[in-house]
Amino acid sequence: MLSVGLTGGIGAGKSTVAHRLVEHGAVLVDADAIAREVVQPGRPALAEIVAVFGEQVLADDGTLDRAALAERAFADEESRVRLNGIVHPRVGERTAELVGGAPQDAIVVHDVPLLVENGLAPLYHLVIVVDAPEDVRVDRLVEARGMTAEDARARIAAQADERSRREAADVWLDNSGAPDGVLAEVDALWADRLVPFEANLRLRRPQGSRSPSVVEPDPTWRAQAARAIARIEQAAGETALRVDHIGSTSVPGLPAKDVLDIQLTVADLTEADRIADALAEAGFPRMAGQWSDDPLDPGQVGPRGDKRLHTGADPARRINLHVREQGTPHWRAALLFPVWLSEHPAERDAYAELKRKLAHSHRADGTAERYAENKQPWIAEAMARAEEWARATGWSP
Ligand code: ADP
Repeated sequence: MLSVGLTGGIGAGKSTVAHRLVEHGAVLVDADAIAREVVQPGRPALAEIVAVFGEQVLADDGTLDRAALAERAFADEESRVRLNGIVHPRVGERTAELVGGAPQDAIVVHDVPLLVENGLAPLYHLVIVVDAPEDVRVDRLVEARGMTAEDARARIAAQADERSRREAADVWLDNSGAPDGVLAEVDALWADRLVPFEANLRLRRPQGSRSPSVVEPDPTWRAQAARAIARIEQAAGETALRVDHIGSTSVPGLPAKDVLDIQLTVADLTEADRIADALAEAGFPRMAGQWSDDPLDPGQVGPRGDKRLHTGADPARRINLHVREQGTPHWRAALLFPVWLSEHPAERDAYAELKRKLAHSHRADGTAERYAENKQPWIAEAMARAEEWARATGWSP
């Protein structure tokens, strides 16, 4: 089951996008609808709310008077915590029930207006943010929902800003134009990314073995890695001693293959085996034993190797997740090398030049193994210089 988080500022077009995804076959879990449902008359949450906040929070027809409740519950921190203590568990139960009822191969879309504000992004395999400029959103809210412009602006101001939404977004849908534009993007997203992502996840299928070519550095690699790291930390829990963005994409300004390398540090490889399923469920299925093209440690991964390799199941974002034991030489090298390259632009540029040459010379017969192999002499010497630098500066992982 693929779990997709859908969010965006009020009036941006979440419901419009959600509706299209449902047309394609997604199962929609609407957080706002659930929050309303669990406080319907006759539900235990409503009785508890009345017990705490008084009969005044009820309208004449016995339903919850939201404005009256807000006045009381948001007056102070303690009241807010009490209200959340009543409502949140019910929302959680109902959400789990709906998700539990979805088929095993479902693509479940969670429409969560406050996903970013509540830091929920790592709970989903993929986060989609729908966006439109503030003025456009205000106009739509005034026209379609009969809000005053002032009210619309106040609501917008109370939500997350664009920067935090961008950080959380794996997919950014611009809905500033006519609806056709965003709907076409949703159609392509469904077919090209969500459907194969779900299949990869369910079948625990590694991504294609075709080795991508070296590209110019992408300034968003770091933020993309940060999102993957948050998901990995969420899945690994306390077993993760640390999770780092490593490899060429972690070195600012270094051309690289468009594959993010992430290193998950564990105390012991038996721990890595214990969390293998959790990582697979979070979108990082384990690769069976095979040769790694990691220039820092070509060699055997799998049961007898000194690391475990998982790959991201998202077809649009290649990720290699290296699970290694704390303190081992390759673990240390993987952390040191990118830091040293980042600190030494001339070395970084020399490495970039070498990669370019090798990529060229191998285009005809180019296999991943040879690509890694031929960088080895330079890397071995560079590692010696990096270790020297680490000694001189006192750098340690
Ligand atoms: P949200 O769920 O993010 O609050 P909606 O999807 O309900 O936003 O969209 C807000 C309003 O704007 C709705 O009335 C919707 O029909 C309308 N709307 C959505 N997208 C567009 C668009 N591209 N052009 C014009 N109106 C739109």
